[in-house]
Amino acid sequence: MVITPQQIIQAINQSEFTLHYQPISNLANGEITGLEALVRWHSPLHGKVDPADLIEIIESSATLIARFHRWLLIKCFRQMVEWQKQGICYRIFLNFSVRYLERPDCFDLVRSLLEQYQINPNSLGIEVTESQPILDLAAIQFSLNQFEQLGMEIALDDFCTANCALAYLTDLPHNTIKIDRKFIQALTAANAEYRYRNTIIVESLIEMAFKLGKKVIAEGVESHKQLEAVTFLGCDAYQGYLICPPLPVEVLTEILLKDRNYHAKSDFFLTNLPAIAV
Ligand code: C2E
Ligand code: MG
Ligand code: MG
Repeated sequence: MVITPQQIIQAINQSEFTLHYQPISNLANGEITGLEALVRWHSPLHGKVDPADLIEIIESSATLIARFHRWLLIKCFRQMVEWQKQGICYRIFLNFSVRYLERPDCFDLVRSLLEQYQINPNSLGIEVTESQPILDLAAIQFSLNQFEQLGMEIALDDFCTANCALAYLTDLPHNTIKIDRKFIQALTAANAEYRYRNTIIVESLIEMAFKLGKKVIAEGVESHKQLEAVTFLGCDAYQGYLICPPLPVEVLTEILLKDRNYHAKSDFFLTNLPAIAV
């Protein structure tokens, strides 16, 4: 069944969307350095909708883009306030589509919501998700420059896949690049030639990022072998099913609160996850 824009507006109004959060872990010491917020929609009509498909529909309409990102910011900021009350303070990374970053009111809305919810901009990261090509580079540069000046972290998501081109290293303000799971998983592929080519690509991306003074996050780490590979190649941080899948708030909060001495260590996740995996 086709999902209509009207159904998406209705889903937002009826609070059918939720956010799951996935930890990002520092490779040097295992500490959690942030959480990525990822949208989830279990529609009464369509069942579980693939987030990538949902975002594609949202990106096809200016109204939906505005409504969705407003919902995303408010939902996330409310959660940050709740977590702060419980002593859980991590930088949260939000995925912003380039269509939203192009909007002239993008920065003003983020700033006014930050003020309204008393959120420190340092505790927010923006992932530039590039499922669509950039149409107005100057507008995106404007938004990202403003975010950067506020102290927010900016990551180029799924770097060097789809539309996220090398040129963005010079064109877009950012502090971090995220290497897509396609490249990371290929580091341990069975085919030696394929593995070799991807290792060269990842090695070169990391070298380039470091020379430009950027941090590197490896996405989609699923095995210890992949963890070894990204550690050897020198990534700063990683995320992936090996440490933790994106989790609903209640489940993640319980883990984060469970043992304050260990909650920031990835080992804690690795040993506790089998019981709570969703
Ligand atoms: P992304 O931002 O690159 O998010 C990472 C995706 O990889 C997520 O898929 C996550 O669930 C998945 N993932 C994480 N670790 C692993 C792993 O070890 N193995 C595998 N196979 N997958 C892993 P998800 O949640 O389906 O989201 C897909 C994409 O949809 C996101 O890619 C992002 O581009 C977009 N998206 C999701 N939420 C939002 C949002 O709130 N706003 C916008 N604009 N885009 C969003
Ligand atoms: Mg992302
Ligand atoms: Mg990504």
